[in-house]
Amino acid sequence: MIIVILGGPGSGKGTQAKRLAERGNIIQLSTGDMLRAEVERGSELGVRAKKIMDAGELVSDDIIIGMIADRIGRDDCRNGFILDGFPRTTPQAAALDGMLAEKGLAIDHAIELETDDDILVDRITGRFTCATCGALYHDKSNPPRVTDVCDECGGATFNRRADDNAETVRQRLLAYHEQTAPVLVYYHDKGALTGVDGMAEIDQVTRQLNEIAG
Ligand code: AMP
Repeated sequence: MIIVILGGPGSGKGTQAKRLAERGNIIQLSTGDMLRAEVERGSELGVRAKKIMDAGELVSDDIIIGMIADRIGRDDCRNGFILDGFPRTTPQAAALDGMLAEKGLAIDHAIELETDDDILVDRITGRFTCATCGALYHDKSNPPRVTDVCDECGGATFNRRADDNAETVRQRLLAYHEQTAPVLVYYHDKGALTGVDGMAEIDQVTRQLNEIAG
């Protein structure tokens, strides 16, 4: 099963991709997470990517396509994968189709989490993750049961993304509308796109995604 999840920043891609991956026992591949790991490592790519990410812009297609080509060739992707945050441009979408075709594969579904920009800004600026296990939280909609203690692992250190501030979010939304919206058209024209209300309650979105994934 190969699924692409599309949606603006804060649409719930990461949360929903994680749930779908756990349910289907397949891998979640997030290009944003891969880039953040490079930033964390302080690699040359990480240093370059950080500047672009902090400005809310997109990292070049060549870099991203190379990263994904390498990743989907690994053994743990044999049963399929959920792509979260990729493709974000039409050349990335075409490159993905090409890579998959070489392996005799194709995507099963492209799912768009449809959202409202004003609410997204609120969602994004309130989110944080457990530094130990990566569990996802939000100040208003999904705080830990005990303040400052992770529900999943008991960790007490949390991270907020450097690009989750209002100014960068506006630039990320712009990048989404200008560069990623054509990807929706690309999948729509192939008859592969299904839209889901990404503003619905989180478990309801999951139920809809599960139905689509089958
Ligand atoms: P995300 O975690 O998906 O919101 O991605 C965070 C940032 O990483 C984005 O704002 C971009 O700067 C960069 N990024 C992630 N995925 C891609 C991609 N497929 N193409 C270009 N840039 C990306």
